[in-house]
Amino acid sequence: MLPFLSSLLNGVTDNPCRKAMDTVLKTHNKLEFLPQVHGALEKSSSLSSLKIQNQELRFGLKKSRQKRNMSCFIKASSSALLELVPETKKENLEFELPMYDPSKGLVVDLAVVGGGPAGLAVAQQVSEAGLSVCSIDPSPKLIWPNNYGVWVDEFEAMDLLDCLDTTWSGAVVHIDDNTKKDLDRPYGRVNRKLLKSKMLQKCITNGVKFHQAKVIKVIHEESKSLLICNDGVTIQAAVVLDATGFSRCLVQYDKPYNPGYQVAYGILAEVEEHPFDLDKMVFMDWRDSHLNNNSELKEANSKIPTFLYAMPFSSNRIFLEETSLVARPGVPMKDIQERMVARLKHLGIKVRSIEEDEHCVIPMGGPLPVLPQRVVGIGGTAGMVHPSTGYMVARTLAAAPIVANAIVRSLSSDRSISGHKLSAEVWKDLWPIERRRQREFFCFGMDILLKLDLPATRRFFDAFFDLEPRYWHGFLSSRLFLPELLVFGLSLFSHASNTSRLEIMAKGTLPLVNMINNLVQDTD
Ligand SMILES: Cc1cc2nc3c(=O)[nH]c(=O)nc-3n(C[C@H](O)[C@H](O)[C@H](O)COP(=O)(O)OP(=O)(O)OC[C@H]3O[C@@H](n4cnc5c(N)ncnc54)[C@H](O)[C@@H]3O)c2cc1C
Repeated sequence: MLPFLSSLLNGVTDNPCRKAMDTVLKTHNKLEFLPQVHGALEKSSSLSSLKIQNQELRFGLKKSRQKRNMSCFIKASSSALLELVPETKKENLEFELPMYDPSKGLVVDLAVVGGGPAGLAVAQQVSEAGLSVCSIDPSPKLIWPNNYGVWVDEFEAMDLLDCLDTTWSGAVVHIDDNTKKDLDRPYGRVNRKLLKSKMLQKCITNGVKFHQAKVIKVIHEESKSLLICNDGVTIQAAVVLDATGFSRCLVQYDKPYNPGYQVAYGILAEVEEHPFDLDKMVFMDWRDSHLNNNSELKEANSKIPTFLYAMPFSSNRIFLEETSLVARPGVPMKDIQERMVARLKHLGIKVRSIEEDEHCVIPMGGPLPVLPQRVVGIGGTAGMVHPSTGYMVARTLAAAPIVANAIVRSLSSDRSISGHKLSAEVWKDLWPIERRRQREFFCFGMDILLKLDLPATRRFFDAFFDLEPRYWHGFLSSRLFLPELLVFGLSLFSHASNTSRLEIMAKGTLPLVNMINNLVQDTD
């Protein structure tokens, strides 16, 4: 165990945080995250953000307070904000879940490891076709912790409009103090309680069984796999789906894992007032005048910029998230919090109370898992995060029927294939060549974004949001494929200023060569 974690956990044996830290450690080992080490708080908060919400951060704070003075870790301004973060309410949905009975020793058709949006969507759809499904998650009834935002048209296309609790008629992007773009594309916040409830209800109706545990190991036999859980139970399944998000529990990778990281700190807050239009959400605010009095922060922000993402719900209730779009290594959480505090002060936003907070670390890009492999995957574990934006929910929910259909088709009595052959079919449908090429282009986009400082980032988005809507909509929602993406790239280039063109050429040449190389090597 890492020394700082063992000191944080000293004397703690029966605490949810202990379990959380298990995940953290595991994730940490796999992601090789946290290259910059500034202190225990920062480490615990950055790591915990990989899925663990404010409870663990606050635990880290309390523990660190016992060990050392808070002022060693973060500046007073951010700590004043963090003091407003409430004790975590881990809210469970009120469902009676039909539980898996290990004594029967049944072999289920599908075991889904992980009950996030990706896992439940597939469990629901495979069970709808009459196949037996077991869903395994350590907290199957817990309301998902992340605050998900999506473009309304993405959810409309999946008939999920009722699962948005707030929508805005459009979005705004502040490029700088003088340039503001109005995006004529409605945006929505996912009602995660309702979405999960709907999915759980359908799973229950379709006969899905639940098992509350963590999977620690999988053993494959010729036509079935054995999942070993941390409570000692073994679950047997014809097909195993890893939907464990960024913990990447079972899916194997054979290339060095080198993602960029989107890091963000968000609060859902009651404020005295805020300056934003209630009709529009703030997709990106790249203004930096809030840092004028702090040359150190201003310089850091100029090299690796962060922007504000905001969802105004009313004149005094708002979700505010300071976000580093992508950086390698990820921007330390404490830096993000400091920048956010300075921004809120400058905008005259006084926070009265915080309903919940969110520590977000999203690995972006990096290699795809081994294709194909015996365990199948979907969602964060299967490389489905958009490498240039960090978005994934809509894309995953749209891909769930593809994975579900491939599993159902393969297990149907007239085909009845199993083992590796079956998994290969599912992977082929999830990552066909055109999707792999699309992802390669998005990784190219990420590689360019990684190199842009604040002025260059501004120029980039100035040109990006000037494109015809079908290009920027299609890029953000993974609807463009390689031929269209090439046209998109040329169009972006032609919209860019001369300075921006030079930058793209200087900073994009190596990534371009890498992309071409990867595209040439990847054949069906
Ligand atoms: C804070 C945050 C905010 C985000 N916001 C957005 C957004 O606004 N829009 C968007 O499109 N995307 C967003 N994303 C990205 C992405 O959509 C989410 O991470 C999404 O939750 C991923 O879904 P998933 O089902 O793959 O994994 P998860 O939602 O992470 O679910 C994984 C599940 O697997 C379980 N699990 C883990 N290990 C095991 C194990 N060993 N055994 C059994 N179960 C296990 C976990 O408990 C969890 O329930 C966000 C990500 C984060 C971290």
